[in-house]
Formats: sequence, C-alpha cells, structure tokens
Amino acid sequence: MDLRITCIPGDGIGPEIVAEAKKVLDKVAEKYGHQMKYTDILMGGASIDAYGVPLTDEAIATAKAADAVLMGSIGGNTTTSPWYKLPPNLRPEAGLLKIRKALNLFANLRPAYLYEELAGACPLKEEISSQGFDMLIMRELTGGLYFGERKTIEENGVKKAIDTLTYDENEIRRIAIKGFDVAMKRRKKVTSVDKANVLDSSRLWRKVVEEVAKDYPEVTLEHMLVDNCAMQLVKDPAQFDVILTENMFGDILSDEASMVTGSIGMLSSASLNDTKFGLYEPSHGSAPDIAGLDVANPIATILSASMMLRYSFDLDKEADAIDAAVKKVLQDGFRTGDIMSEGCTKVGCKKMGDLIAERII
Ligand code: NAD
Repeated sequence: MDLRITCIPGDGIGPEIVAEAKKVLDKVAEKYGHQMKYTDILMGGASIDAYGVPLTDEAIATAKAADAVLMGSIGGNTTTSPWYKLPPNLRPEAGLLKIRKALNLFANLRPAYLYEELAGACPLKEEISSQGFDMLIMRELTGGLYFGERKTIEENGVKKAIDTLTYDENEIRRIAIKGFDVAMKRRKKVTSVDKANVLDSSRLWRKVVEEVAKDYPEVTLEHMLVDNCAMQLVKDPAQFDVILTENMFGDILSDEASMVTGSIGMLSSASLNDTKFGLYEPSHGSAPDIAGLDVANPIATILSASMMLRYSFDLDKEADAIDAAVKKVLQDGFRTGDIMSEGCTKVGCKKMGDLIAERII
C-alpha cells in the first residue's frame, strides 16, 4: 500500500521526534510491504522564520493532498522567543489553529494508557494503578462553548459576560459515529459524558448518541455525568474504554486522564475529520529547553504514528506491531531521561528510536 504522509517536524524537539517516528514507520513499511511517501512542510516558528507566517497556503494544499499528517510540535520559549513579540495571528500556534480549521478536524482522540513498567509514575494509589488502564478520550473539537456567541455587556451599571453553548444534532452525530467507530477497534465500550441533568445541549447529546448506538449493537453504551466522570477517572480508571464527550468537558477530562498516566513523553493524539484523514501528534509541546540535545522521548510521536496507521489507513496489524515494540523496549528496561527509574538503562532520543525499530516484528 502507498501511504502519502505530510510531515510537520515543527520547532524545538519536533524535528528530532518526527525523525524517530519515520524510522519506525520505515521499518514497518519494510516488514509489511508498504511504501511511505513523505512530504515535509513547515509550520509554527520554522515557517515564520522562512516565510513570515506560521503556515502558508501552499503548505495547507500539500497537507490536503496527503492521506494523513504526522506532526512533531510547534512553538518556542513563550517568554524569550521573538516569535511571541508578533501579533497573535502571526505566532506559531496560529498555524495549528489554521491547519485544524482548513482540514476540518472536529474529532480529537487522546489515549491514556498506563504501562505496567511505568506504573511508578502514576500519581494514583497502588491499589488503583495496579489494575492498569487503557482508555481513549474522544472530544468534539469545533463546537460547544468555545465556539458559541459571546459578549460582555453592561446592565444597570453591572458588567455581565455571556458565553453560549450550542450543538446541533449533526455535530453530535458525526462525533458520536467517530466514537463508536473507534470503540469497534477497541474493547467496544462507549461512556458518553454529559450534564444532561442540567443542560439542554447535553439532553440533545444523549438523545443523538442513543440513536447512533443503534447502528453499533456490539458496543456497550453507558451515560455518565461529567462531575461523576471526573471522580471516576481517579477512583476507577480501569472501567473506561472510549469516553465520548463535548468540547469543554473533553478539554478538562483529557488533561485529567493524561495526568493519571504520569508521563507526558508517552501521550499520543489524533485529530480526525469525517473522512479517514487525520492529523497525528504527541500531546506534549516542543520542549525548547531540551531541543537539539538528543534527550527527548520520541515515544508519544511514535505512538501517534501507530494511531495514524490504525485510524487513517486501517492497518491495525502494523499499528499493533508498533505498540508491541514500544512495550517491549520498556520491558527490556530502556528509558529516556523523562521516564527514567532505578535499574533501567538511560538512552537518548535516537537510540530509543533505533531500539523500537529493531523490535518491529
Ligand atoms: P512542553 O510540553 O513543551 O514541555 C513541558 C516539560 O515537559 C518541559 O520540561 C519539557 O522538557 C518536557 N517534555 C515535553 N515533551 C517531552 C519529551 N518528548 N521528552 C522529554 N521531555 C519532554 O510544554 P511547554 O514548555 O509549556 O511549551 C513549550 C512550547 O510548546 C510552547 O511554545 C507551547 O506553546 C508549545 N506547545 C505546542 C503544542 C503543539 O504543538 N500541539 C502543544 C503544547 C505546547
């Protein structure tokens, strides 16, 4: 199979971690008989330096012509970098917002997986962490409170701010379908999270999710109120498979879920549109403090490449091979500095990429 992938190395550690993800993808291509066709584009600070803008229209056209986008990370030190003296619409992050909009990426997927070998980094009590957990937060990304009408007015001398939370049934249906599709590739359970005891938008959410569920008889659906979900994530995270939720709830819950894994260098993510197209990137930033030192952990980006194979190309076997290679490297005791613990062997970014590529079978 030909896989047309646009790569965005980006800034800081971005180029280093993307290089390691490509190394692993190339090994998968060799073992499983695929052709990886990469085209690099600039985004963020690198694009500002080259073209004066964080993302050019040509770069967007290149991304659109591919089947998927694999990204490192963008941005620099927000206090010292000259990029942050520019107006907000010309700063590195504006490139990310622009590409998400141009590619119509409305579904954000963030897995939170606790590796047995890294359980020590989990901030939860051992009796909870020893159960392990493997969940994925499916967050609606382009609707809800963050995109509703907002204004600040003054009534009788009192200032009043108004934000509007709006969802129509089509927006809910398309993210619900994504949630159920993803659950079909996992343990076939969806927990839909809302605040249906209070909000009309949540009552509509619940109704539409139940309609979509009828097309997925193999998937178990449960509903959970968002406040309860926030508690359950720290009390019993093992109960979750796919958590399906709207924009603001997902923003908060996905950060909570990532924190309970305890290791930022391990967290992958994907943003999808209504085709198979997706943008895949680690959840962490560009770590300018360690850029160029060959110490960054490339695993989040390598796992993002695995998500790309699974969700954009339906290459589940190949994605499983990457996930298994990452697990094996951890079992064999290799760690980058950020996840280092006693008795393990510390390696750099390139070496970690080599070790994972070697374990692709
Ligand atoms: P960060 O995630 O880049 O770094 C936070 C801390 O974690 C740092 O100490 C860093 O060294 C460490 N770290 C992060 N990733 C690591 C890895 N793979 N291996 C080892 N250590 C790692 O967050 P920040 O410092 O707040 O942000 C730095 C820049 O990244 C900012 O410009 C920010 O806007 C940008 N950012 C970009 C994205 C994105 O591209 N999607 C996301 C978040 C932050």
